[in-house]
Amino acid sequence: MLLENLAGPPEKVDTSPKVSDEIKKTTCYMCACRCGINVHLQDGRVRYIEGNRDHPVNKGVLCAKGSAGIMQHYSPARLTKPLRRVGPRGSGEFEEIEWEEALRTATQWLSEIRNTDPRKLAFFTGRDQSQALTGFWATQFGTPNYAAHGGFCSVNMAAGGIYTIGGSFWEFGEPDWEHARYFLMFGVAEDHDSNPIKLGLSKLRANGAKFVSINPVRTGYSAIADEWVGIRPGTDGLFVLSLVHELLKADRIDLDFLVRYTNAPWLVIRNPGGADDGLFARDEAGEPLCWDKRVDAAKPATHAGVTPALVGEFDLGDGRKAVPAFELMAGRYLDERYSPDRVAGECGLPAATIRRIAAEIAHAAFEEEVVLDVPWTDWAGRRHDRMIGRPVSVHAMRGISAHSNGFHTCRALHLLQMVIGAIDRPGSFRYKPPFPKPVPPGPKPAGKAEQIGPNKPMDGPPLGFVAGPEDLLVDADGTPRRIDKAYSWEAPVAAHGVMHMVITNAWKGDPYPIDTLFMYMANMGWNSAMNVPGTLKMLTDRDEATGEYKIPRIIYSDAFYSETVAYADLILPDTTYLERWDCISLLDRPISDADGPADAIRQPVVQPDRDVRPFQDVVIELGYRLGLPAFTTEDGKPKFPGGYPDYLANHERTPGIGSLAGWRGAEGRQHGKGAANPRQLEKYVENGCFWKLELPPGQRYFKHANRDYLEWAASVGFIPEAKPVVMQLYSEPMQKFRLAAEGHGPVQPPDSERERIRSYFDPLPLWYAPFEEQAVEAADFPLNAITQRPMAMYHSWGSQNAWLRQIHGHNPLYMSRELGERLGIEDGDWVDVTSHHGSVRAIARLMEGVNPNTVWTWNAIGKRKGAWNLEKDAPEATKGFLLNHIISELLPERGGGYRYSNSDPVTGQAAWYDLRVRVEKAHDSAENSEPAFAALRLPKAIVSRPRILRYGAEFRARRNRG
Ligand code: SF4
Repeated sequence: MLLENLAGPPEKVDTSPKVSDEIKKTTCYMCACRCGINVHLQDGRVRYIEGNRDHPVNKGVLCAKGSAGIMQHYSPARLTKPLRRVGPRGSGEFEEIEWEEALRTATQWLSEIRNTDPRKLAFFTGRDQSQALTGFWATQFGTPNYAAHGGFCSVNMAAGGIYTIGGSFWEFGEPDWEHARYFLMFGVAEDHDSNPIKLGLSKLRANGAKFVSINPVRTGYSAIADEWVGIRPGTDGLFVLSLVHELLKADRIDLDFLVRYTNAPWLVIRNPGGADDGLFARDEAGEPLCWDKRVDAAKPATHAGVTPALVGEFDLGDGRKAVPAFELMAGRYLDERYSPDRVAGECGLPAATIRRIAAEIAHAAFEEEVVLDVPWTDWAGRRHDRMIGRPVSVHAMRGISAHSNGFHTCRALHLLQMVIGAIDRPGSFRYKPPFPKPVPPGPKPAGKAEQIGPNKPMDGPPLGFVAGPEDLLVDADGTPRRIDKAYSWEAPVAAHGVMHMVITNAWKGDPYPIDTLFMYMANMGWNSAMNVPGTLKMLTDRDEATGEYKIPRIIYSDAFYSETVAYADLILPDTTYLERWDCISLLDRPISDADGPADAIRQPVVQPDRDVRPFQDVVIELGYRLGLPAFTTEDGKPKFPGGYPDYLANHERTPGIGSLAGWRGAEGRQHGKGAANPRQLEKYVENGCFWKLELPPGQRYFKHANRDYLEWAASVGFIPEAKPVVMQLYSEPMQKFRLAAEGHGPVQPPDSERERIRSYFDPLPLWYAPFEEQAVEAADFPLNAITQRPMAMYHSWGSQNAWLRQIHGHNPLYMSRELGERLGIEDGDWVDVTSHHGSVRAIARLMEGVNPNTVWTWNAIGKRKGAWNLEKDAPEATKGFLLNHIISELLPERGGGYRYSNSDPVTGQAAWYDLRVRVEKAHDSAENSEPAFAALRLPKAIVSRPRILRYGAEFRARRNRG
């Protein structure tokens, strides 16, 4: 019977049926990657999403999340109307109000603050892709208390890179997938940078390059790695410095690269106890000096034609001695402390593996040179016939970033790249324009006392790059000026703010109380918080004297009924990403690749069917109602009456520089820089909603020193002037902080902070055990606990999506089979996971491919009952859990009563991968994840969900009719 059927005439299957009346192009927002998508529409409804084959980011590739954007758009958790809280915070009791009333209320609250003390507004956004607007809005409002999600995520990576090589991984740089022969990947979440990495890895594999994944867990991309190195969390920096040790010892380093492109030859003053100790020796013009071997004298290091010494001690002629930075670097890492035998135990790796990987790196770098027959000219006008590359690439993200030693670990990685000469050369890491930038780049963060006042915009952005203690935002006595204590002595280089401390500090009134917490897309009452139970208490806690909430007002804008909504007083409902204009700007975090700059927009492909508004339109409207100068004409009218699209086309940050770089000028013929073009968005839409400029071949590598590239980059405003970007193997800004801690200079830390600053502001990369590991007893908490991001989900948005939930309905606690056996735990057992801060209950799963002393789970799947309009007994709430509950935002006290934030001491990055736990089989029979919070009540404005969500029935009905 079966054979008869098989032998029958072949069935005609239409593999590309027409599924839509219309196709609109836009940009995906189902994760941070920003792929181009074609949205197929039928009868005005979203029918199908496919990848845009012409798009520079994904070249047509679409992931499970991107396809499931349909169910994000039609999610039953969508907010439908502005809401005002009428019950106590957390009760979910709201009344619906009209937009006019919502905007009037917000304006009244905010104008009271602006008229008196703008710092009483804390404006924090989450995975906001419009930070060029929201940051500018905060500047105009006059509050320094602004940041987005970066301090919770990967600021160590960004700051470590920007302060070392003038660029960083992901949005500011990428591996040379085409030419790499050896690729090292450290701790990368699947949204950083999802589809480009998949495309890149397939190229690497096709080219026969070796892919080594260094990660405590073999998930995601690691699954196809040639070699998985299951390192112990928090020890990557030690591993990398041991590789540097091996390379130095074997003399497998690129001295020519170090001399030409890094500050290795710059002379460092040796004057122990002096105010200039450890700073660079400079000439009268402020140029750093090197020792020119040809003339045996100190000469400006940045001049062409010098032949600098890399070792030796030199007399500066004024009684001071100095040594090249290289000598200090080599002296430190050649020490046996960094030998593979010494670090192997701490890293949980065999010494032989470290030695072999170092040898493989050296082999790929020096025996497999890549040569491109592409001439180029360097900054000094020297013509090079070819581009010669060291084909070792590195990519790293949050896995090494989210530790209290992450900043230095990231610097160590860049040191490794510099030592083998593998930066922006064929086969190595490559900068993405507008990077590289000077190290550190401008501007400085605004927020000093003189920059803030009633009804006054700040004269600079709230986030920037400090170059020394004088740039900190502290009062004369060292008191932090920002609510999150960013840019204070506790987190001096907090380039992305310190989001995880906002609620705690506001609740404590430390350093001062605030009036309004304004949040956008930031689930700060759940998975974007540490210490979730404590956070919810702080959001609901009242002042005993007045009976008012300690954080008096909370305004929140979100598209969905997330866990945080119930804790806000005023809800401004946002649209989905398919219903609005948006901008992925070069002023923010662009979608460039190494061959040229790119930016993109979103256009509304469908109209909202609810009473919601794009948040960007709302802040522009609030800007006008508050009279913020940049949003108001001189005669008091709205400057951008057409909302965000009007702003995108017509706002200029500085003359010729706006949100979008493509099709500028009145005729739309200029790219990069030019006058505003009122028809700019039409050009973007015509071009598939993106702009991409291809650099000429001679400008695609050596961008840090490539004259033609630097001149062009300066002409379009990417860099202030066409000067080479010198990589900073030795960091002078770090040393300036250290000198302040030692009692030098006009701005010094309070005594309580001196030792901390002195210890962690090392001008050379440093490794120390993560703070939580140092603070708790190893016997009590013997295991590391971390999270991973599943390919199929992005934060809490993805884990409420009806299709994606079918892939991961809950998150178990994974551990090695060996550990399970040791602890008497079997696959499927309920276990209690306990940290110094609290306990959670979860289901255990045993597996291969995880470091034996590490347990892990998927990030942000656990949900609160009632939130996201899920069923009451949704597995996310009954079997899923959050590790965040047991991660404290504060470190244990170490004498003196003060508890520092659980952060990197340099950048303030949340150290949520430092968690130490013990795991025990649950001793009672309860089979529910814990802690279990009371179910949130669904506001009336949200229609209760059908028991089974159905999608597509209407299209089927139409097809059947037709
Ligand atoms: S990788 Fe991210 S942006 Fe790209 S399609 Fe998937 S979800 Fe969308």
